[in-house]
Amino acid sequence: MGSDITEKYNYERRILWLAATDGLTGLPNRRTFGSELSDALGTVRTGEQVLVGILDLDNFKSVNDTLGHPVGDKLLISVAARLNRVVDGAMCARIGGDEFGVVLRGTGDGGEVFARYLGALREPFFVRGNRIEVRASIGYASSPADSEDADTLVMSADLALYAAKSAGKNRVGRYSPVLRARARERASALQELGLAIESRQFELYYQPQVRADTGRVEGFEALLRWNHPVRGVLAPHIFIDVAEETGLIVPLGLQVLHMACAEATTWPDDTYVTVNVSPVQLMSSGFGSAVNDALEASGLSSKRLQLEITETGAVEELAVAELDRLRATGIAIALDDFGTGYSSFESLKKLPLDILKIDRSFITELSEGDSAVVTSVVEVSKALGMQSLAEGVETADQLRLLRTAGCELVQGYYISRPIPAAEVAEYLSATAQTSGGYFHSF
Ligand code: C2E
Ligand code: CA
Ligand code: CA
Repeated sequence: MGSDITEKYNYERRILWLAATDGLTGLPNRRTFGSELSDALGTVRTGEQVLVGILDLDNFKSVNDTLGHPVGDKLLISVAARLNRVVDGAMCARIGGDEFGVVLRGTGDGGEVFARYLGALREPFFVRGNRIEVRASIGYASSPADSEDADTLVMSADLALYAAKSAGKNRVGRYSPVLRARARERASALQELGLAIESRQFELYYQPQVRADTGRVEGFEALLRWNHPVRGVLAPHIFIDVAEETGLIVPLGLQVLHMACAEATTWPDDTYVTVNVSPVQLMSSGFGSAVNDALEASGLSSKRLQLEITETGAVEELAVAELDRLRATGIAIALDDFGTGYSSFESLKKLPLDILKIDRSFITELSEGDSAVVTSVVEVSKALGMQSLAEGVETADQLRLLRTAGCELVQGYYISRPIPAAEVAEYLSATAQTSGGYFHSF
């Protein structure tokens, strides 16, 4: 061969290699992943299976954000090297930022094989003097069991990955047809929810919040209901998650604010309305002005509006600043579900709060000999200048113990279930008429 022909040959090989390879890690890229998978499916022998796994790092974004992109890049290179060594003859490709694809054929158990991939990442990585713990999730599907089509298999592995992540990350998830059905449900829920917001199928129910000592009704919590044309009245647990994941909670939350403020103007002046605010909504831009718009449009005094936030959303610095501004206009802020998740007394000091809502789980557990948790929450909120409100009060005993603990406000089925807006006036006049106290049951 003449030397210029050799050169041309080498050049062309290099071009081909570049087109097939991920520039950072040297692994096959997404394109190659697809073609290798098709090849494997085309040449698989009877009795053999092809496994497709998609691995995604659980915490890569935070590595990038805190240690910088150069460290992130180096980490990806090391991760790629480890993954590439796990199974002889397997193909491991980099198919996205921190996403890797694996194709292997054989007769082994998929769950076991892919657990080895997670295992390979367990030992910490050392990059430029940083010790980095990497966790990952894997979703996988197999042929012929799940499908014999490459695209369908990848999509199935993706669904399994998504499920593994929502089940708490750091795990291997296997595809099952249920996942596809669920994904379809989600997609149609999204479409339906959008239409429902547009055509105003939502309504608010109101649950009274009363003083623990006298039973006086101080305000009402607005609780969302979806009047579904076919399925009837739906409670939030059916649709709030989808609304949050898709961002539809922002327009929906806006509608809630407007409805709640408008309806509260028909109540007595010394009664407030408290509105649940999702973390997604709180962090969305323009939240503060949306609240002000709702007040302005309805004419409700800001002193009669309360917002219920959760700690997940409130700890962000931007959110704290926004809440501070709202609070300065007279709006009260309540921390919902206190005691669940990672709420801590420490972060309470940083948040601008007026009311601490003790989560229902603590009230359910409340008993004669054991009210220590509730008592200490009440004491801390007093020390920080807040009032405490107990949620989910269902029995006279619970109410009695809460009074003893010094809890100022209570809410729950024992006092009243959430009621439709149209029944609030009647409820107020019925409770106010009781002489010597506000509720019949006190
Ligand atoms: P949450 O804010 O903790 O609201 C209290 C939930 O407990 C309500 O459920 C209420 O009906 C229920 N509840 C009240 N008293 C009792 C009781 O004595 N026993 C028991 N077992 N349950 C009681 P609901 O209305 O189904 O709302 C569930 C959750 O949905 C709410 O929890 C809140 O996080 C969310 N949510 C409700 N409305 C909205 C809204 O307008 N926007 C947003 N973002 N979330 C909302
Ligand atoms: Ca609430
Ligand atoms: Ca709550």
